Amino acid sequence: MALSEFELIERYFAGRRAVAPNVLLGIGDDCALLKVPPGMTLAVSVDTSIAGVHFPDDMSPADVGYRSLAVNLSDLAAMGAQPSWFTLALTISRADEAWLSEFSAGLFELAERFSLPLVGGDVTRGPLSISIQVGGLIPDGKALLRSGARAGDAVYATGSLGDAAAALALRGDAQAGPSHRELFGRLHRPTPRIEAGMVLRDLASACIDVSDGLVADLGHVLKRSGVGARIELQCLPRSAAFRELAEQFAEPDALVLGGGDDYELCCTVPPEREVLLQARFAELQCPITRIGRVEAEPGLRCVDARGEDVPLRDAGYRHF
Ligand code: ADP
Ligand code: MG
Repeated sequence: MALSEFELIERYFAGRRAVAPNVLLGIGDDCALLKVPPGMTLAVSVDTSIAGVHFPDDMSPADVGYRSLAVNLSDLAAMGAQPSWFTLALTISRADEAWLSEFSAGLFELAERFSLPLVGGDVTRGPLSISIQVGGLIPDGKALLRSGARAGDAVYATGSLGDAAAALALRGDAQAGPSHRELFGRLHRPTPRIEAGMVLRDLASACIDVSDGLVADLGHVLKRSGVGARIELQCLPRSAAFRELAEQFAEPDALVLGGGDDYELCCTVPPEREVLLQARFAELQCPITRIGRVEAEPGLRCVDARGEDVPLRDAGYRHF
């Protein structure tokens, strides 16, 4: 017999009821009741993932669950927030138990890594769409905004750039060595840089997560901050897997500069804090690379190893 809406919620979502600080009431009533401790600010964000737009139609249900939460957590990371709860509005075309089971396994695999409780949601019938709302806590006055970059600050990026775009470029490619698998892992299961964001609260002047590509996202920071920047093409961090496969890409530099979906953090750091930044990130074992410098003149410029200008396309995915 087909699963009823309530059975579905209980079996795949509510069953994972987690005890968490600041959650007075989770799933089961008309609303969840959540507490914001004194001295803390609540950061809230929502993102929708749609098949064929945000993830390929053939992505496994477990990866869809994992990725849908990861992209939301990345927004919390970019503000320096500690994740504290999430809600899930799920639209599915039918109650496919195998799909639901794998989807929820992927979703909770990531949620459990951050002891993050699911506190409510909604289930509706229609074309597959996953909306997740996340809440996180930040000590008052400590949120990392896009607007704080100042001329003279250094520009940094965590991890490596272009991997997810490289995986998309490799789709349909029959070979599948370890480097392929690594790049696909970056596309299917991005790592939200939560710990890095929390460390950056005391170090960065501005921060953003790279979801639309470095040029587009750093561009948002510069615009909000009323400044410009110069980045150096040869400094942009590329993973070993990316470098190994680079010759297969028509324009590897374009993937690094403009490719989205890596969910790394890009931040600006006043020069007097750079030594401390290096030390804190070494402790975290999180790679972070200086890629350029903030300048007073508006706009983003990129130079190659010979100091020559690299033309930048106004990249970034636009739905409309
Ligand atoms: P209402 O009609 O009041 O919106 P629902 O029947 O939609 O209530 O949901 C009943 C309870 O189950 C609520 O507490 C709601 O937050 C929770 N819930 C519904 N769908 C989900 C879901 N996908 N994940 C987690 N909780 C859910
Ligand atoms: Mg409802």
